[in-house]
Amino acid sequence: MRILIKGGRVIDPANAVDEILDLLIEDGKIIRLGRSTAEPTLNTRGNGKTSKNSRSQTAGVESIDRVMDATGLVVCPGLIDMHVHLRQPGREDKETIASGTMAAARGGFTAVCCMPNTDPVNDTRAVTEFILDAAKREGVVRVYPVGAITKGMKGEELAEIGELFEAGCVAISDDGRPVMSPELMRRAMEYAAMFDLPVIQHSEDLHLSGRGVVHEGFVSTDLGLRGIPSASEAVMVARDILLAELTGARLHIAHVSAAESVRLIREAKARGVRVSCEVTPHHLALTEEAVRGFSTHAKMNPPLRSEADRQALIEGLRDGTIDVIATDHAPHTVQEKEQEFDQAPFGVIGLETALAVTITTLVHPGVLTLSQAMGKFTSEPARILKLPKGRIAEGADADLTIFDPTREWEVDAGAFVSKSRNTPFHGWRLKGQAVATLVAGKVVWEA
Ligand SMILES: [Zn+2]
Repeated sequence: MRILIKGGRVIDPANAVDEILDLLIEDGKIIRLGRSTAEPTLNTRGNGKTSKNSRSQTAGVESIDRVMDATGLVVCPGLIDMHVHLRQPGREDKETIASGTMAAARGGFTAVCCMPNTDPVNDTRAVTEFILDAAKREGVVRVYPVGAITKGMKGEELAEIGELFEAGCVAISDDGRPVMSPELMRRAMEYAAMFDLPVIQHSEDLHLSGRGVVHEGFVSTDLGLRGIPSASEAVMVARDILLAELTGARLHIAHVSAAESVRLIREAKARGVRVSCEVTPHHLALTEEAVRGFSTHAKMNPPLRSEADRQALIEGLRDGTIDVIATDHAPHTVQEKEQEFDQAPFGVIGLETALAVTITTLVHPGVLTLSQAMGKFTSEPARILKLPKGRIAEGADADLTIFDPTREWEVDAGAFVSKSRNTPFHGWRLKGQAVATLVAGKVVWEA
């Protein structure tokens, strides 16, 4: 199977490429990358003749099974979402590996990392292998499991980290919960460092967040809702930076939300600490003001914070303090989210809106260039997780996303392919949409 992607604006942040190029794909790999020409350079009859336009650097005029016209579109390395909850095994009513990876493909993602808070928890080789087997059979995009730090994510005893690594986990995390014991976190980091595995922390001091449901600030006071202070996150970020310094381990902070955390991470990076972090599209697009209607679709953990925090997150993305944009896609059933604000579970979905929310919030207003934004979805997560992905090169796997950065559309949660509907963006008009998603040279989703 040979596919030619023709005339697209190829953006490959890893190689600082941003130009109109043609891509030729064969047997799942990118086999040629060359200057595009206005004239068709390829014929479909397979007679081996070059076109009249001999300036073409796109060689290879052998038979092509399909030509995809990418004129006016962006072609970039397949997006990688390093923070997703696929809910299988255990909560297949919320999401499955099949539905979650289909939602990923529709959103332009070619790979997702699935967090271990399933039932059972992914804290053993058997669960990791179950996920990988199911992903192979039913998955639409690539699935990279994240193993638990502690057994059952109970925060009491370390999981078999070496076994999880050997089974195929690309990182460890108790995401959804913090590792509260600094002593246990230290030992987790020491083990993880032996395999150079990133330790992903859900940074929250449970004593400080207590039974809070929203950001502690003006709006929580106004509405009479219990608050979660920014310090609840930042205290844990500070502790773990010190532990990463002590152990030499690689620390990755999930879903950074507070200005204080961004400052701490910036300082740590300047000192050479091996720390990286991610931010979600909802923390970039929304603030605490979104909870005023008591919509449970604005309830997530960490909570939506103040406008000053949001600005600090944007500055962190601009100056490289924040490496990655990840969705924290957290599906919940309609019944669960229809409870009162205090009772409803934390979390929102994001796979089908992340690209558009990012482009609309950051790229069109000129905060980030398209290449900077795409780096946060491609080369950066690949670097942190040491995946041989996130770049466009001859010989690389043809995991590609083709999107229209200017296409306008209205978010309709009812039309999602995810099993869940808990998005804060229902009804929003956004700019930017995936047009086609290719995994190993196969079109797995197309508009
Ligand atoms: Zn999460």
